[in-house]
Amino acid sequence: MVKPKPKTGSFVLPGDWLGVIEEFTPNEGTYEEKGEVYAANAGMVLIDKMERRVRVVPVEAPPFPKKGDVALGMIVKTGKALSIVSVARIGGRFLSSPCSGVIHVSQISNEFVVKPTDAFKTGDIVKAKVIDRRGDLIQLSTIGKKFGVVHAFCSKCGTMLIPKNEKSLICHNCGNEEKRKISVDYGKTKI
Ligand code: ZN
Repeated sequence: MVKPKPKTGSFVLPGDWLGVIEEFTPNEGTYEEKGEVYAANAGMVLIDKMERRVRVVPVEAPPFPKKGDVALGMIVKTGKALSIVSVARIGGRFLSSPCSGVIHVSQISNEFVVKPTDAFKTGDIVKAKVIDRRGDLIQLSTIGKKFGVVHAFCSKCGTMLIPKNEKSLICHNCGNEEKRKISVDYGKTKI
């Protein structure tokens, strides 16, 4: 029986045969036994034909948002009671595709917030905690000092806003002042 030959991009499991030592030098994620090369871990095969090397790169599943995770996303809409967030990252890892999150007005801050537009504006980048999940929709909260807006632009001229105090941001270009629920990590979070 002829063994099927894994190609670059093939998914393999530990112990899967990759080829013979005459063809490839075993590399990361592989091992050699009696002149044959096998996968040491599950992952994707990468064959460098020029260098005659074979590697198996572990494939990590994209993160699955769950209660307690820290999410990073962009405010796409603010309504009367809810703010909609397009979540791009969970716990520092990018999702395979953005998912939707909502922040209820009661989950913005420990202080009373009359309307979500007093805390967020479309285009703001927010850091929030996942508090619940129903199917594809996740519920988020920005209660707590770490959570809230981490990056925002002036709604008049588009310049990045600078914190003025705990509750407002200021534009150094046009002097416009805007209220937000600001995270202590404002301006410090890589996006
Ligand atoms: Zn401005």
